[in-house]
Amino acid sequence: MTLLLFSFESITGLPSIHGYIFIFLFGAVVGSFLNVVIHRVPLEQSIVFPNSKCPKCDAAIEPYDNVPIFSWLALGGKCRACKSPISVRYPAVELLHALLWVLIFWHVGFNPFLPVALIFMSVLVSLMFIDAEHMILPNVITYPFFVFVLIVRVVYPLAFSGSYFADMAYWPAATWNSMPVWIASLLAGLLGAVAGGGSLWLVGEAWKRLRGVDAMGLGDVKMMLGVGALLGWRLAFLSIFLGAFAGAVIGIIVIAKQKDKDLQTQIPFGIFLGTGSILSLLFGEQLISWYIGTFVP
Ligand SMILES: [Zn+2]
Repeated sequence: MTLLLFSFESITGLPSIHGYIFIFLFGAVVGSFLNVVIHRVPLEQSIVFPNSKCPKCDAAIEPYDNVPIFSWLALGGKCRACKSPISVRYPAVELLHALLWVLIFWHVGFNPFLPVALIFMSVLVSLMFIDAEHMILPNVITYPFFVFVLIVRVVYPLAFSGSYFADMAYWPAATWNSMPVWIASLLAGLLGAVAGGGSLWLVGEAWKRLRGVDAMGLGDVKMMLGVGALLGWRLAFLSIFLGAFAGAVIGIIVIAKQKDKDLQTQIPFGIFLGTGSILSLLFGEQLISWYIGTFVP
């Protein structure tokens, strides 16, 4: 298996700083669209129509007032018509998403896997912000994401190479030499989905039986089906471990600060799972190597 590598420079004739600038600007524009997704999908509204309006005065937002990040700054965070404040979340999502895309470009490089990794990031950013606000991870995002990843698992080995998937170099996929690579890739993806979604579902069920509390939503499980299918079983477990660790730390802080100790605080776990998944995609292999090198004799 050979990894297809061709640089941004050799294709476009531009130095790669232009690649970074382009990815940042494109990431900000897509981030602006994600703001619409984050706002409308939980309300079951169309993400295409109508055009954006000020939530206070219903004034249509003109294209020149809809430039990602820049317009919010130029307007001083206020609606041009009624001067009511516009949430800092809008430019924050655009900036965060643009920077995460730059990180992906730096990590993946300019190769066929780049669009898959960028879509992965956009889906997770949308899900995390929706979970933060509405405590749900909508099926209309998690299911198509899972199907998308399974298609990529089949198409990429046929069109390019199976080596884009981290798990193909490890047990058990590495031992599946006798079968066509696209079948091995799909099976490895399904194994990753079981590791990501299935293990999380088991933990939730066990918790429910033991404590009688429905601690985890099925949305988290569905999100981790797609994440696990793309990252493979090793990075799926790492995502859950990192997410649970971050969730526990933040959870303890939240509960410690809370005045009414009896109150059951619901924490949107999808935020932490999403963060764990992003960290796994970007640094998972290095983290596992470091862990094995440091703690396994
Ligand atoms: Zn207004």
